Amino acid sequence: MTTLHAHVVLLVGGVGGAKLAVGLANVLPPGALSIIVNTGDDFEHLGLHISPDLDTVLYSLSDLANPQTGWGIANDTFHAMEMVGQYGGPTWFRLGDRDLATSLARTSMLREGKSLTEVTRHLATALGIEHAVLPMTDQSVQTRIETGDGCLAFQEYFVRERWQPIAQSIRFEDVENARPSQAVQQALGEATLIIFGPSNPFLSIDPILAIPGIRDTIAGSPVPCIAVSPIIGGQAVKGPAAKLMAELGHDVSSLGIATYYQDLLDGIILDTVDVEMCEEIEKLHIRAIARNILMTTLVEKTELAASLLQCIEEI
Ligand code: GDP
Ligand code: CA
Repeated sequence: MTTLHAHVVLLVGGVGGAKLAVGLANVLPPGALSIIVNTGDDFEHLGLHISPDLDTVLYSLSDLANPQTGWGIANDTFHAMEMVGQYGGPTWFRLGDRDLATSLARTSMLREGKSLTEVTRHLATALGIEHAVLPMTDQSVQTRIETGDGCLAFQEYFVRERWQPIAQSIRFEDVENARPSQAVQQALGEATLIIFGPSNPFLSIDPILAIPGIRDTIAGSPVPCIAVSPIIGGQAVKGPAAKLMAELGHDVSSLGIATYYQDLLDGIILDTVDVEMCEEIEKLHIRAIARNILMTTLVEKTELAASLLQCIEEI
């Protein structure tokens, strides 16, 4: 299996994609997996560079993640936040004490002039992670959500407004000035399989595809590209993916996901509850394969990863 898939490249945002990353990390040897992570949610807060999706991936791969919240470190304490609150500072974006240390370390290394890619490699190595965790770019790109009540920065939309405003469109500020890092280019160039994780298509995968060159590289790549659907039975497992799909005029289903990524995909893995959609998806010339794609346990993550690698033989 591993010789056939010498280099798997996985595109992800946070929670959903990170679960598949854990599964793949379990079945692939070090060096055989590169995870390209969305940084469109990154922002400057309390003077620190916060990278929510990178942290979710790092904490998931090092078994530190808090499965209840989907962000932060399990059993973290919040003393620093409480003190910030006492000073009248902002507490709407929660950062645990240990989680805060990640952002402190990241920010200080960035200030020393290291790139986000170098800093992330340092953090990953220190956490004992043996697979490559790659920010989509070293430049700053900010996801913005255009709503009826004006344009919201990602964290305003997601955390402060709890994704309740109705989205009209989404854009990635400064993306035209960004470029894929050398590491991302190399990973895509050496890929023998490209996977879109079960992440939010608009908020997690689209920002990566919007980095100049990435979409074209994937579209032109001779290797299979497969998505794992983030939608099960017409619903997102977590977060605003289904709500956004409806608001932006897409069919809220794995068929909608396949259609949205149509020009890039060779295959899609959808849930067994959605098996009746396979026929319609295959009319798009995308191989559709039904599996259990709800990943609650480590066993489910690992089984999905293993069956994904096996599916390649069928595609
Ligand atoms: P975020 O930055 O944490 O929002 O990260 P993602 O975009 O990677 O994850 C959110 C998406 O993950 C949502 O669309 C969920 O439906 C999806 N998701 C979460 N858990 C699972 C799961 O166990 N299986 C599948 N198929 N999708 C999941
Ligand atoms: Ca995110």
